[in-house]
Amino acid sequence: MGISELPREPESATVPALIDPVLIDPAVLDTLAPAFPAGDVDELRSVVHGPVYAAGDDGLAAEVATWNVAVQHTPAIAVGATCAADVAAAVAWAVAHDLRVAVQATGHGPVRNAAGSLMITTRRMQGLSIDPDRRIARVQAGVTWVRVMEAAAEFGLAGLCGSSSDVGVVGYTLGGGMGSLGRKHGFAADHVEAVEMVTADGRLHRICADSEPELFWAVRGGKGNFGIVTALEIELIPVSSLLGGGIFFAADDAHALLHRFREWAPTLPEEVSTSIAIMRMPPMEQLPPPLRGQTVVHLRYAYAGNDHAEAERLLSPMKVAGTILLGFVGPMRTDEMDGIHMDPVDPMPAWEKGMLLTDLTEETVDALLATAGPQLDIPLIMAEVRLMGGALARPAKVPNAVPGRSGAFAVLVLGPGIPEMAQVVRAVGKGVLGALGPWKAPESMINFLGDVSGPEEVAAAYGPAIQRLREVKAAVDPAGVFSFGHAI
Ligand SMILES: Cc1cc2nc3c(=O)[nH]c(=O)nc-3n(C[C@H](O)[C@H](O)[C@H](O)COP(=O)(O)OP(=O)(O)OC[C@H]3O[C@@H](n4cnc5c(N)ncnc54)[C@H](O)[C@@H]3O)c2cc1C
Repeated sequence: MGISELPREPESATVPALIDPVLIDPAVLDTLAPAFPAGDVDELRSVVHGPVYAAGDDGLAAEVATWNVAVQHTPAIAVGATCAADVAAAVAWAVAHDLRVAVQATGHGPVRNAAGSLMITTRRMQGLSIDPDRRIARVQAGVTWVRVMEAAAEFGLAGLCGSSSDVGVVGYTLGGGMGSLGRKHGFAADHVEAVEMVTADGRLHRICADSEPELFWAVRGGKGNFGIVTALEIELIPVSSLLGGGIFFAADDAHALLHRFREWAPTLPEEVSTSIAIMRMPPMEQLPPPLRGQTVVHLRYAYAGNDHAEAERLLSPMKVAGTILLGFVGPMRTDEMDGIHMDPVDPMPAWEKGMLLTDLTEETVDALLATAGPQLDIPLIMAEVRLMGGALARPAKVPNAVPGRSGAFAVLVLGPGIPEMAQVVRAVGKGVLGALGPWKAPESMINFLGDVSGPEEVAAAYGPAIQRLREVKAAVDPAGVFSFGHAI
């Protein structure tokens, strides 16, 4: 489809507010003078409906502010896209001006500064429609999970949201997307029916199993490597009943809890998704006293089934494995699932890195406790182990590029992403993952790769599929227009 034929969808009234770019140093942005003739920028402004900010313009820093403020973007120019036509026009303009193209929805997953790029921000693209009969949601690029979950719940349906519904549907799903219904229903990417995407030639494609099957395989798991997704059609899951929540335990019981978890988790049916995390909670006023400034162990539990008595019975061995500080596990609506992980809502600076494990043995847990246990005075906010398996281990109905299905558990370590602590946080975090090296699965989950050294590390995460992904990349983006984020 050419740009002029593209429909302009109405803007929604629910465009999220800009993140206050508190930690962005305006001096950094001011040093970047606009790199294009003013006339060229005016021409871009005249063909897109959304705002355009060149380096040096007021409003650029706010437009590209991230949720994870550890990464600050300094693009050469930003386009606040309102529709697919804006995206297509922005890509075409970038290519004509030899710029590479970056994209941001919420800023929950920046990998590194997309310096010098043309950055397309999608948060104005809030179109969301649900067809309850077909159980399909069409979700534009700026929509976050909270809106999908709330709208779908009205029909007894749910999307395969992750631990935080503030995350963008598109970014999450393109990276696989593993959430609290995952062991029963698989990755979010496994339930994509169609992808609307602008490729490097500035054209909008509607890609599905019958149309451009190779690109359809690649983009579901291949993250932002192939173009700018303007909308996804995703299958919704009927969920009539859910029991879930989280329990905070005293840190003194970490050894007993983690060892109980390794014995218990693999016995669970696919209805259950669960994880356990050693958390060093900040001394924030908003936190209740048993958690404020404390190191605790947080068990997360979700049972996607009707038999709640069975769900309680399955959970009981963990409830008696340590001293409960506080927590809630009970019936919940699918749009209340943020209560399972209780992820932070406000923007924060975070450094994170993940890996998959083939096994969680007695020695694995000991290695985790020795490097991340509560006895250590280390700047690690979280060391988390999530149970995988079930539908996450099976190929999608229409196979896709999501790696890591052979992982038995996913590990994620997260620390404060502030420059003064960067070296020590990275060293401690990598130390934990290094200690777990003997149990490392060959592939990794893209959404939890975190800090990567470059394309080769991203490539390694895909295992043998990287060859095929690179062939698709060479066919649709030979010049590497889309080479930010988790670039292959
Ligand atoms: C608090 C928190 C909880 C999380 N929980 C989970 C979880 O439970 N399970 C899980 O799997 N992941 C989880 N994640 C990881 C998350 O899925 C990724 O960080 C994801 O990339 C965020 O997408 P975003 O659009 O919100 O972020 P952004 O920073 O806006 O985008 C991140 C990247 O996504 C890609 N992208 C975004 N929009 C587009 C587009 N329109 N077209 C092409 N590419 C695009 C780009 O590569 C971009 O660089 C979590 C992250 C956070 C911060």
